[in-house]
Amino acid sequence: PLRVRFAPSPTGMFHVGGARSALYNWAVARQSGGTFVLRIEDTDAARNKPEWIDGIISALAAIGISGADPAFEGPYFQSHNADRHREAASRLQIEGRAYYCDCTREMLKERTGSEHLGYDGFCRDRGLAYEPGRAMRFRTPDEGETVVVDLIRGEPSFPNSAIEDFVIARGDGSPVFLLANVVDDLDERITQVIRGEEHLSNTPKQQLLWEALGATPPTWAHLPVIVNEKRQKLSKRRDKVALEDYLADGYLPEAMVNYLMLLGWGPGDDREILPYEELERLFRIEDVNGSSAFFDIKKLTAFNGEYIRALSPAAFVSACTPWLTAPHATWPAEAYDEAVFETVAPLAQTRIAVLSEITSYVDFLFLDEPVRDDASWSKAMKAGAADLLRDAAADLGALPVWEAEPLKAALEAIAAKHGLKLGKAQAPIRVAVMGRTVGLPLFESLEALGRDRALARLEAARA
Ligand code: GLU
Repeated sequence: PLRVRFAPSPTGMFHVGGARSALYNWAVARQSGGTFVLRIEDTDAARNKPEWIDGIISALAAIGISGADPAFEGPYFQSHNADRHREAASRLQIEGRAYYCDCTREMLKERTGSEHLGYDGFCRDRGLAYEPGRAMRFRTPDEGETVVVDLIRGEPSFPNSAIEDFVIARGDGSPVFLLANVVDDLDERITQVIRGEEHLSNTPKQQLLWEALGATPPTWAHLPVIVNEKRQKLSKRRDKVALEDYLADGYLPEAMVNYLMLLGWGPGDDREILPYEELERLFRIEDVNGSSAFFDIKKLTAFNGEYIRALSPAAFVSACTPWLTAPHATWPAEAYDEAVFETVAPLAQTRIAVLSEITSYVDFLFLDEPVRDDASWSKAMKAGAADLLRDAAADLGALPVWEAEPLKAALEAIAAKHGLKLGKAQAPIRVAVMGRTVGLPLFESLEALGRDRALARLEAARA
């Protein structure tokens, strides 16, 4: 059975590209009854932090990948396997597949005349023993070629003469990433490696290591890079890349999963919004597109809107709750009233695309004063607005029941009296009670706000 792995380095927030790799590994493991291994590559002590490890584990759980599923194995920690990495290095050296080298960069540059040419093999046959400061290099074959069997890219081949004798252990004896990564994959009996394209240049070297260690290399799949709208590789310096940030903004995990699964792959028909189970069933790593994938935030946001609209009313209310309560709410905790929110929730559900937008739609219900949008005010409070507000306060205030339907009928009458279309007559009222011209429908909002508070705001706006 297939054994795949996801092997993040805990050096920062959890990148959406990492999330896509994890999801593709998860899908192939689950659809084949195989195993998904989580391995934390935590050997770079200077750059790793324990909170990033927790961040990876909880971000994976948020997108449905966790030990609650029998397909999941781990997490393993690369740092716990350090003895095996050293053992492998020394075995390669004893068997003559690797050798110690004391060349400095300067010496190499002097000999080859360039900093960019690979290592020239100077120490290959000098038979140096280990001394602190001497690196260990892998002796690559001089002839032939290394063919990488890649499920997405076909069979790229690399002439061995172009693969330099690369370092596998540093001058302090510690094995480098290339070797540790192979030894772990070998120990974890990984049969297929699905990872980002940035590792493709490592693959021929790693495949040579697999062979030198007497094992059959896995099949590979290198996923296309993810780019922004300027076709630049998505980077944490210029783009929003952390899965945690999207979740914290109110992107639903299910929408993220759906969108990420489609970054470089599609189910082969026009459908784009599909439940995870179906995405998993249809996913084929061989069908992943080799060209770079555009991370389109607009499209992701549209997906999210669809997922929000598909929630049950109760699920929508509970999904919004984190934004309606401390610390996100812009109103005091005691001002929030879930029953009031429930009355307008269905109206908001069709209008927002990201959950964090909910706050500005309903803040007029929970703040003492609406948030005043100055542009909306100056546009709505034109000549005649004061008269209209006066009539509205009087006529609406006289209604026997404070409900959307009669409120609407009353305002229609007022509009007719002022020679205005209903929409025009609504604007000053909306701004007076809600602070802005865009938002929830007016009459339902008035009903939810209640007679006394609504009338007080109409009065206040006239002053
Ligand atoms: N730790 C590596 C990274 O985060 C992953 C290497 C691999 O998947 O083989 O880029």
